[in-house]
Amino acid sequence: MLFDDLPIDHRIKQNLSIMQLSEPTLVQQRSIPAGIQGKDILASSKTGSGKTLAFLVPAVNRLLTNKPLTKQDPRAIILAPTRELAKQVFMQAKKLTQKLPVSVTLVVGGENYNDQVKMLRKNPDIIVGTAGRIADHINGRSFFLNGIELLILDEADRMLELGFADQLNLINGFANHRKRQTMMFSATIDSAAVHEMTQKMLKAPEKIIIDDAGKPHIDIQQNFYFSDGVSHKDKLLLKSISLEAREQAIVFTATREDTVRIAAQLNEQNISAIALNGELAQGQRSSVINIFSSGKEAVLVTTDLTARGLDLLNVSLVINYDLPKFAPEYIHRTGRTGRAGNKGKAISFVSKKDWASFLAIKTKLEQDYTFSSYDDIPTKFEGVQAQRAKPLPIQKKVKVKETQVKKTSKKAIKRVNTDDRPDIDVGFAPMKRKPRQIINDDED
Ligand code: ADP
Ligand code: MG
Repeated sequence: MLFDDLPIDHRIKQNLSIMQLSEPTLVQQRSIPAGIQGKDILASSKTGSGKTLAFLVPAVNRLLTNKPLTKQDPRAIILAPTRELAKQVFMQAKKLTQKLPVSVTLVVGGENYNDQVKMLRKNPDIIVGTAGRIADHINGRSFFLNGIELLILDEADRMLELGFADQLNLINGFANHRKRQTMMFSATIDSAAVHEMTQKMLKAPEKIIIDDAGKPHIDIQQNFYFSDGVSHKDKLLLKSISLEAREQAIVFTATREDTVRIAAQLNEQNISAIALNGELAQGQRSSVINIFSSGKEAVLVTTDLTARGLDLLNVSLVINYDLPKFAPEYIHRTGRTGRAGNKGKAISFVSKKDWASFLAIKTKLEQDYTFSSYDDIPTKFEGVQAQRAKPLPIQKKVKVKETQVKKTSKKAIKRVNTDDRPDIDVGFAPMKRKPRQIINDDED
């Protein structure tokens, strides 16, 4: 199938051809016709499978073919969990709408609020941004939502993980025009929180689930190394980065501090590396992304801030220095490679501290994964054996009616308390804590 075969405005087809795109990906083939019919969409497909255009094409098509409902209000709001991802979506929207009578503005945290107010006064048709800052502008009456036709949530599950439910509810509440069409996209949408949100926000959505979207990518080779802790991981990292044939690499750490420490360490070894974390000022964050995407640095060392959505085409290697606390983030982090049909490799270091996360991730790994080791970096840790259940004390046999038998839930995995860095938040007892506290790199 070609984009030309789809019932989209010829001006969009022209722009797609300028962007050198001719064949829609699977998720695009399904979501474009459904979106054009005005249906709400809940879509899930693998990382790097073209979800951005899967929502942008039908959205822009609607704006071109329908009359606006009001004169000044924005017609579409597109929300993303991080400023960097919002910017990337904004750039694609700009490309898709080049020379068309559709204007797009980016509204993210970390940038001057009043400058944004000025831009918003120019009445853009599409606002792309992060939920916190957009909610601020709604509260501050920088714009109104009476003319809203489309609300799109990219990586909706991550916005919830980051604690933006209130802002999303606020935006949803203000943007409640009966003609509103809503679309949600992510590789991972199967959490209870997402389910609850879809119930609230979507009307009879077309569910587009491509394959087993939430599973790791078949184009990405998954490799693990046992590790004994920080200094051991440092050695593994240096070795892996030096030995693996790669273009650019991304190293994910659990803390902001480690991004800086590890980047410096790699630079000392003449491996050009740059750190990105949420503590940097917005200008610095943008310039790091620009420098890395221009190919000037070999390695980006970062936190989960960069796990979602970013399309950095030369990344062929992802290293999890620490495993993520949430299994979906493993899918998203490793999905920074193997994009748009390319192959990639993911390497993860598993110490005692990472073990509980590893077990959660393992249940999602469909294809073979391997554990490797380097002869000159021996490891003591080789996983935690499951404890054998103690035999039950002998009890009197009591006859129980079948209907009374209830399934007991599996015992939660015990926290392995072997922190060698007790001052740093890399523990693995996340379920008891509120998401807002767990995430160490959030957005506004
Ligand atoms: P996802 O959101 O599913 O992770 P993206 O929308 O970021 O994926 O797209 C991943 C890459 O694929 C981008 O570089 C994008 O330009 C490219 N791409 C998108 N659609 C197509 C297509 N139809 N044909 C070829 N490449 C595409
Ligand atoms: Mg995406």
